[in-house]
Amino acid sequence: MERCTLCPRECGANRVTGRGFCGESETVRIARAELHMWEEPPISGKNGAGTVFFCGCTLRCCYCQNHEISHGGKGFELTVEELSETFLRMQELGAHNVELVTPTHFTPQIIEALDMAGERLNVPVVWNSGGYDKPETLRMLGGRVKIFLPDLKYASADIAQKYSQAGDYPDAAFASLREMCRIAGKPVIENGVMKSGVIVRHMILPNHRRDSIELIRRLREEFSPDDLLVSLMCQYTPMYMAGEFREINRRLSRFEYETVAEELERSGFDGFFQERTSAKEEYVPEFFSEKYF
Ligand code: SF4
Repeated sequence: MERCTLCPRECGANRVTGRGFCGESETVRIARAELHMWEEPPISGKNGAGTVFFCGCTLRCCYCQNHEISHGGKGFELTVEELSETFLRMQELGAHNVELVTPTHFTPQIIEALDMAGERLNVPVVWNSGGYDKPETLRMLGGRVKIFLPDLKYASADIAQKYSQAGDYPDAAFASLREMCRIAGKPVIENGVMKSGVIVRHMILPNHRRDSIELIRRLREEFSPDDLLVSLMCQYTPMYMAGEFREINRRLSRFEYETVAEELERSGFDGFFQERTSAKEEYVPEFFSEKYF
């Protein structure tokens, strides 16, 4: 924490005395912890995912739907003990898993909290990140995380730099995806609920279907269809600072979605196609500034 290099940005911030590019110090902050029904079917199952939304982010996506907590400062502090209790509370509520949303910059604190819960926590842990992870940091997790649910946002470094201030995103995301597949193995789903494996999420941006197609082709070059599942998302809504970029300041068209969906079908990967009707702002959960449980 005194010279943080947890994510590919490696900004080297002293998080004991200050904050990193991700906006966070060494103290854990979250903005919501509840059962969540809107993830992919085997993640939410019938009871819901036990979702914990962490504050801060190592990326700067101009269209971030969670900008209130990723960059806006909303959220509240938890001790590592309280974080551990929060994980156990998700399990008590009946969650099929403990889903860590945007966890990368709190990896050491999460490991400590999971170790405190120990064998009392017997549902799988889901790592839901923006895909901007480092293999070395993922290896720190040991066997504690069974399911990885990373974004895979861009094939082009220029686009990654323009919209997320991370020109190294494509190579970093593919390197971390290889490590995630090595750690979690091939997808295992029992009675409709995921037990282990990797689901890659890709959200298509308006006017960028060619980048999505290139991304799927690279994915197919580097992975076999049975290595992972793919979740194709079309809920893009121009939010936060997206209005500064005319080309992404609209919703996705049916043509754009179908063109990318056809490429994904051709690739042979199995997975999930999000309904276009779910592209609504109201799917963004409410976040909290003070501890509410
Ligand atoms: S996790 Fe945060 S502090 Fe650490 S290297 Fe990444 S941006 Fe910097």
